[in-house]
Amino acid sequence: MIRTRMAPSPTGFLHIGTARTALFNYLFARKHGGRFVLRIEDTDKDRSRREFEADIIEGLHWLGIHWDEGPDVGGPHGPYRQSERITIYKKYLMQLYEQDLVYSCYCTQEELERERELQMLAKQPPRYSGICRGLSDAKRKTLEGQGRTSVLRFKTPQRVVSIADLIRGDITFDTATLDDMIIAKNIETPLFNFAVVIDDFLMNITHVIRGEDHISNTPKQLLLGESLGFSAPLFGHLPLILNTDRTKLSKRQNKVSLLEYKNEGYLSEAIVNFLVLLGWSAENDRELFSLDELENIFSLDRVHKAGAVFNLAKLDWFNAHYIRATPIDILTARCIPFLVDAHHITHNDDGSYTITATQRTIEINDLRQIVSLEQQRMKKLSGCASALGYLFVDQPHYDASLLAWKGMTLDDVVAQLLFLEQHLSEISEDQFTSSIIEQRVKEAIALADKKNGEVLWPFRVALTGQTASPSPFDIAPTLGKTLTLRRIAYARERARTLQ
Ligand code: GLU
Repeated sequence: MIRTRMAPSPTGFLHIGTARTALFNYLFARKHGGRFVLRIEDTDKDRSRREFEADIIEGLHWLGIHWDEGPDVGGPHGPYRQSERITIYKKYLMQLYEQDLVYSCYCTQEELERERELQMLAKQPPRYSGICRGLSDAKRKTLEGQGRTSVLRFKTPQRVVSIADLIRGDITFDTATLDDMIIAKNIETPLFNFAVVIDDFLMNITHVIRGEDHISNTPKQLLLGESLGFSAPLFGHLPLILNTDRTKLSKRQNKVSLLEYKNEGYLSEAIVNFLVLLGWSAENDRELFSLDELENIFSLDRVHKAGAVFNLAKLDWFNAHYIRATPIDILTARCIPFLVDAHHITHNDDGSYTITATQRTIEINDLRQIVSLEQQRMKKLSGCASALGYLFVDQPHYDASLLAWKGMTLDDVVAQLLFLEQHLSEISEDQFTSSIIEQRVKEAIALADKKNGEVLWPFRVALTGQTASPSPFDIAPTLGKTLTLRRIAYARERARTLQ
């Protein structure tokens, strides 16, 4: 049975690169009917925070990634937080002690620093010399008597280690270049490289799929596992995610926290689709996939070796696509928090909504109609709040000169708005729909031998205060007959007083 895992360190908000790694592990497990495990690697007590763990869990769930075993859902190989597994690590540290494969190192930072400098001067690669490997008991006592603290180092065997990486092919390391790595600060405080090996083995992880930045850890982990008598998992190292200038993805050039994308109005479907293509491609260059589809078609042999460029314009394209494809009731529910945040509406205790500026109640159906005005144009959900602001005010603010189309005088504007008012008021409330309004207004324009722009331009500005918007024929029924006529009368008044 294939078992993969996601092993984030909760030392920061869920990174978009970590989300990509989680997605690949999840998809690989699902594709092969395996299991996916979430393990929280919180051995770094100073930097790990529960708040970050919560952010990681929330972010992955938002993407639709769920795990079969983990700190929040339990499972047969728990606990799934490394901080709760200290006694387990202790047992294996003791085993290494008994095998004489671990020793206390008392060197201070300054001494190690000095050693490195001397090696550099002698043009040797910097590495720990192993000075504490053969300390006698007496020497150790003396050092401890001086109040020195120690760390635990693994007697790293020196030989050639090869891995058949599932993505990168064969990789060979000569561990003679490695120093005796520190595997624990003390018997109660194991470090990452040690804890990972124990956990991957005890949790029966069959495939370790992780970022390329972990390649250098792999020989160390293999040697440790071997010394403990563990069988090794298979490894697959994913390509780096790059900024557009091909440097490693950085905060300075891109947002890297997943939930920032959510808060900005990206849909999880768009993020999943975008993330899966960061280092993987499907046959026939197909680009659009749902998570369910990916669970059936994902394969590690189509993961690339080359770095994957994080192209925000592409993400925006996916997002606009998924916004257009979302059923309007779901899209409205997703837009409402953005409308509330922008103070356009408030959510009342009884479930209804009130327009903040006018204190009018607004029905969910009307909100749907409002959101649908922007569905074809929106790139991000947050865009609905700015684009639709004119619908949530008593009267939109604008410069009255905006009402004049191509050389029209304000006199003309008043006349055209009166013309429009007259024809719109003849339509009954229940006929006040987009198609009927369009038909009547266009007929009237043709009969009066006017140009479309003369009437439709002031119509649009009167309703929105803007020169670019959805069609006024769609906005008018959304506002309703009364408010439409009020806005036109107000525009007429503004044009008259400016003359
Ligand atoms: N905890 C490690 C990290 O957050 C991941 C370890 C691994 O995947 O082996 O980078």
